[in-house]
Amino acid sequence: MKKQPLGQNYLINESIALDIIQQAGVSSDQPVLEIGPGKGILTAILLEQAESLTAIEIDPKLCSALKDRFGKNEKFQLIEADALKYDYGALGNGYQVVSNLPYYAATHILKRLIHYRKHISHMTVMLQKEVVDRLTAIPGTRDYGSLSVFIQFHCQVERLLEVGKESFSPPPKIDSSVVKLTPLLQPKVQVDNLKTFFTVVNASFLHKRKMLKNNLKGWGNLFQKQNGKIELAGIDLSRRGETLSLEDFATLSNFIHSCND
Ligand code: SAM
Repeated sequence: MKKQPLGQNYLINESIALDIIQQAGVSSDQPVLEIGPGKGILTAILLEQAESLTAIEIDPKLCSALKDRFGKNEKFQLIEADALKYDYGALGNGYQVVSNLPYYAATHILKRLIHYRKHISHMTVMLQKEVVDRLTAIPGTRDYGSLSVFIQFHCQVERLLEVGKESFSPPPKIDSSVVKLTPLLQPKVQVDNLKTFFTVVNASFLHKRKMLKNNLKGWGNLFQKQNGKIELAGIDLSRRGETLSLEDFATLSNFIHSCND
């Protein structure tokens, strides 16, 4: 199978398209942003159900076909742009995102959308199954890592649907899943300094098989010995990063931040 450089595997199963849009909760009183409309399988249904639809597509050929097909619809706005660079603040507030994301750029686009989360009510996105496994992973499992912590810190995460490769043309090598991400007004845990929090999270997962005392050795001056164990902020550093909850990461980073003040 030829590699699709722009992640152009088109959904061809209409009932899955309907299901995604139904589960997204699309309604006539809310605008929708679609990233990568492609040939328009989701676009056509979204235009029937949403208040309005803005679609961002990078491929000029697809843009021209989309203009021919939907250009006369007053609810439709097409933006020929790179979703990796787009300023999502320019679209106002209170819109939702529905997208079958191009796989090669999916996590980067997601991170960018989360950067603009104050503008967005929720996002219903199709991604590689493996990525959704990471977004939804809980501590102590193989898929739990810095991406899980980042997404779960900022969003409520709900896994909605599993979609097999046969539902696409051309079929990709891997299966897909649909996930709904609802940005939280307040993160689930109290973090005093976001930069320190994510620096600690990323360091904790740097070498996944290593103990925290190795991954966090940059803060070795703050380590304490307690009953023969090495601890930081009361957390046993013989543990691995993958066993730490969001609360544990908050405890570690708030302690480190307070020591650096
Ligand atoms: N929504 C369609 C569907 O479900 O069949 C197409 C989905 S396809 C997986 C991904 C789409 O994203 C393609 O139309 C591709 O051209 C577009 N795309 C890829 N990279 C992009 C980028 N950086 N910015 C905007 N669109 C992009």
